Amino acid sequence: MRNKSTLPAQDWAFREIVDAFSMNQYELRCDFCNRKIRWIHVLDHIASYETVIAGQDCAAMLCQQYDAEGAERVFKNREERRRRFTDPVRWTQSKSNQSNIWRCVRIGSVQFVITVFVRNGLYGIYVAKRNANGVCFRKRFRNQTEAKDAAFEIVEGINP
Ligand SMILES: [Zn+2]
Repeated sequence: MRNKSTLPAQDWAFREIVDAFSMNQYELRCDFCNRKIRWIHVLDHIASYETVIAGQDCAAMLCQQYDAEGAERVFKNREERRRRFTDPVRWTQSKSNQSNIWRCVRIGSVQFVITVFVRNGLYGIYVAKRNANGVCFRKRFRNQTEAKDAAFEIVEGINP
């Protein structure tokens, strides 16, 4: 916790929410009330450009017109979707190349097949509608976890 008396009590702007546990941080505390927090609201001061971390209640008080509770709910729901999407149980090893994995995703009424493949030691993403030609994304990743995370962002952006 910072010295609270030196921190402005207003004019904070919300930047992002971060799950402390996803960074293996289990002892982070709100800079304002010293309570332990998992769902970190990162705030920047609009004049001094200081950055602080705060829990939901403090974040709501410090920022104007910031629905901290709503933002935290949206973030948690998205992280839960990410966890389900990347869950290894839901991915199948490719028969032709065991380093490649794929899974199906239904978006609206459309089925997509998402493949994470390895080529020259780097991981790529291929997205196709079922039984149709797909799109190979140009970007490559250092490992399968990073590629699955990026695939989740792609899938979240699909509007069939
Ligand atoms: Zn607090």
